[in-house]
Amino acid sequence: MPSHSDILHKHPVSGTIVEEWIIPARGYAAFQMKKGQVLRFVDVEGKQVPDLVCFNAEDLGEAINMGNSLLINKRREFIKGNVIYSIRCRPMMTITDYSNALSYSYGPMCSEEVNRIRYGVPNTPNCRGNLAMALGPWGFNYRDIPNAFVPFMNVEVDGNGTMEIREPTSVPGDYYDLRAEMDLLIGISNCPQERNPCNGWNPTPMGVIIYQ
Ligand SMILES: [Zn+2]
Repeated sequence: MPSHSDILHKHPVSGTIVEEWIIPARGYAAFQMKKGQVLRFVDVEGKQVPDLVCFNAEDLGEAINMGNSLLINKRREFIKGNVIYSIRCRPMMTITDYSNALSYSYGPMCSEEVNRIRYGVPNTPNCRGNLAMALGPWGFNYRDIPNAFVPFMNVEVDGNGTMEIREPTSVPGDYYDLRAEMDLLIGISNCPQERNPCNGWNPTPMGVIIYQ
């Protein structure tokens, strides 16, 4: 069986790697990246989603805004070339490449409250809690976390507008690239959800590569 490191490099990057690591299943990360650098997610075991939020590194009040991003891209299912915009409608990240095009752009993420309402179980691990932990050192708390962009997530909307979360179609080594359009603070929750199919019922590690 190939190692996680082999799978991380299954698809070579078109540039110089600045940093790479693997976020454990149910884990999280926060870090800064420079304008022009590319953030690559690598789904090392398949069927796993990372919830991504970002902030202008020079003004942390300028957060990712998925509502603006939907309106300006005029799309619900984002594709290469689409841009993630801030609350001030400035470009934050551009989708530059992927081996699996699926993503979730509507914004809301799993939280203690959503899990309790949907599944009747209190105090479950969740993305909002993960991001509050990751971004705590920058002064963020649970209520400050903006809506996220989620590569690899598989959500189907039928003709009646009913939304259903499905298992991702990502296989080991699938990647998703986003280029920073300004200096950014990034927050990632490697989604710990195991009560719906969004991670194939089984949270697994997520590779991260920063390259330029
Ligand atoms: Zn989640």
